[in-house]
Amino acid sequence: MTAYPQRVRDSILPLSVGKTLPEAFEEWSFTDRTIDHEEPIETCELCEQEALRYHFEIKNHLTKNQMMVGSKCILKFGLSVFEEGRKLNPADAKKKLDRLMQQMRLESCVRALERLAATENNVILTNALAYYRKNKYLTPKYSFVVLWRLQKHAIDHSPTFFKINLQKDKYQRDLREMPKSQIPFIWPALNSAQRKKAIELGHTKPDI
Ligand SMILES: [Zn+2]
Repeated sequence: MTAYPQRVRDSILPLSVGKTLPEAFEEWSFTDRTIDHEEPIETCELCEQEALRYHFEIKNHLTKNQMMVGSKCILKFGLSVFEEGRKLNPADAKKKLDRLMQQMRLESCVRALERLAATENNVILTNALAYYRKNKYLTPKYSFVVLWRLQKHAIDHSPTFFKINLQKDKYQRDLREMPKSQIPFIWPALNSAQRKKAIELGHTKPDI
């Protein structure tokens, strides 16, 4: 049998009908409710893992008890994840939780951009916000202005959550022509393939 930490047992059994962990796990499912606490300050109520930024709500369908946990625990303990009434297999459950995480990251970027657009009377920022909402990514030019101004105004944000599009030739041209001094601002938002591309286009990895 798998050995479960005592704290998992202590958290879940008093809130469940089943007397063993596998029985108890069967009773719990993800409610589709998530919370982004903006900073890694929360704890998983199931395993007591600390420094969680995102909480996922689970509910026991027999006792109606609820807990806020990390997505890892939902997957690790095989708690049910549903999509339109259908229980998902583990691979699809993981995909769904990943999708929700992406959504929360997108919303967090939109909130940072909204704060930024409200701070500065700057049409570029208003346009960047509208563009990001519509396309869910930024162009290289927008990303520089946005990340530079966010930093300048010390608006809380996670640069790595912003997505930059380099698919179009124009965006690659814009990246190639970008002044060296601007690269450190957008670097954290580039994924590893895009960083490689930036180096191919003549830029160097910034010291940040
Ligand atoms: Zn946990």
